[in-house]
Amino acid sequence: MSIIVCSVCERVFDTATSTAMPFCSERCKTIDLGRWLGEKYSVPYERTEDDEEEDSPPPRGRTSGED
Ligand SMILES: [Zn+2]
Repeated sequence: MSIIVCSVCERVFDTATSTAMPFCSERCKTIDLGRWLGEKYSVPYERTEDDEEEDSPPPRGRTSGED
């Protein structure tokens, strides 16, 4: 039996009472997993900015070296 701090909610808990080590509860375990996935597959907000840029691309049709 040992007392540790949950890295998600920073709550102090007994490892013997937890069913989702090293977190205090299944909920914190899920939250931590979500954070990992969020970092891996990039943030949706950034993708929205990319979509806007693709919607109005810069005029690349002109080639200055053609004259
Ligand atoms: Zn927790």
